[in-house]
Amino acid sequence: MMRPLEEMQAEVLNSMPLLDEVEVDFADAIGAVLSRDVNAPDDLPGFENAAMDGFAVIAADTTNPPMDLKVVDDVAAGAVPSVALTSGTVARIMTGAPIPGGADAIVPVEVTEETEADSVRIMEEAAVGDHIRPAGGNVRAGTRVFDAGLRMRAAHASVMASMGIRPIVRRRPVVAMMSTGDELVPPSTPSLARGAIRDSNRTLMKGLLEDLGADVRDYGIVNDDVGTFETVLEEAMSGADAIVTSGGVSMGAYDIVKLALRDRGTVGFWKVAMQPGKPLGFGTVGDVPFFGLPGNPVSVFVSFEQFMRPALLAMMGADRLYRERIEGVLDDGADTNSEKTVFLRVSTARHTDGRVHARKSGGQSSNVLSALAFADALAVVPAGVGRVEPGGTVELEMIHWPEARSRREVLGD
Ligand code: AMP
Ligand code: MG
Repeated sequence: MMRPLEEMQAEVLNSMPLLDEVEVDFADAIGAVLSRDVNAPDDLPGFENAAMDGFAVIAADTTNPPMDLKVVDDVAAGAVPSVALTSGTVARIMTGAPIPGGADAIVPVEVTEETEADSVRIMEEAAVGDHIRPAGGNVRAGTRVFDAGLRMRAAHASVMASMGIRPIVRRRPVVAMMSTGDELVPPSTPSLARGAIRDSNRTLMKGLLEDLGADVRDYGIVNDDVGTFETVLEEAMSGADAIVTSGGVSMGAYDIVKLALRDRGTVGFWKVAMQPGKPLGFGTVGDVPFFGLPGNPVSVFVSFEQFMRPALLAMMGADRLYRERIEGVLDDGADTNSEKTVFLRVSTARHTDGRVHARKSGGQSSNVLSALAFADALAVVPAGVGRVEPGGTVELEMIHWPEARSRREVLGD
């Protein structure tokens, strides 16, 4: 019996523990998930300041230009004004410098002319507030800036830096990884014996894991021998927050991951109603979540995207777990297995009709890694649908876009 995709996704998410909180340096928070709401302790900016280089003026002094006004101060960024303006006086001021008392506008240097020393000619009338950044104009003291569950990008971390609030995030997951298969040789092997293939899955998995900020422990290639696998697994379990393997989970006589874990921990071996990625081993070994991904490279990718990426993001405390889906047109159509959710590897482009159009990016067998490399989306043909006509509408899961969909949006619970 095949299990519905969403049911399997829910089981995976339900099994994920939350990682511990840590306080980190600002730049180290990038890619991590905030574990606490962030409120602004102070106004940002903290003081009224100049938005342009020029002259701080009293706007009422500038009606009927041009006129010459007396320069009584020179305020650089970081300096404190030494005098308050009175009618007929101005202060030279630089971007970011505090506004002198009495001033209510900035006249940009571009609309002034140098005259004699201590004097400047104002060429245009200023209105009150011109080119002045108000205190709190960016963020008001006491307001909510970010919610817990946000995965931080550089701009988020720099907002935290501007407020001086050290980020409290969940720590990065430590993930132990290995590939299984007697046919596998290291990718650097120059020429292959008949029947051998280069191990491409570890490169793929490492990249996908590191994209999430995971700390990857690579246990290499494990032969199709139950004893060897058990030994490596034992070592991999210590200190890992999750374990991922490729291969050895389907129906073959040498599917050793399945043989080794069938009677151990809570790992189940499932047929998920999806293509590619039907076979999946999932459960916990000791207390460690275990993902037995299939061997075919495209299946590794799709299974990782549907199960493991959301699972690790959930461990990290993220609200948004699944990548964005948008509506598009499948120009070349497809016949698919109606019993499964089918993920086609496609490449997309926005056409002049304003819609996103997709075409298959190559062969759709689960071993055709090149089609995955050329794809920027997965066209999703749901179970119950067996054919998309050329030009038919499909959902496109954008595999280079960040996660955008919450558990509730995807699983409805
Ligand atoms: P398995 O599930 O172990 O039977 O593997 C399914 C298919 O994926 C076989 O054709 C394997 O040769 C291939 N495969 C397994 N592991 C890898 C790997 N690490 N890199 C590339 N192909 C693999
Ligand atoms: Mg195998």
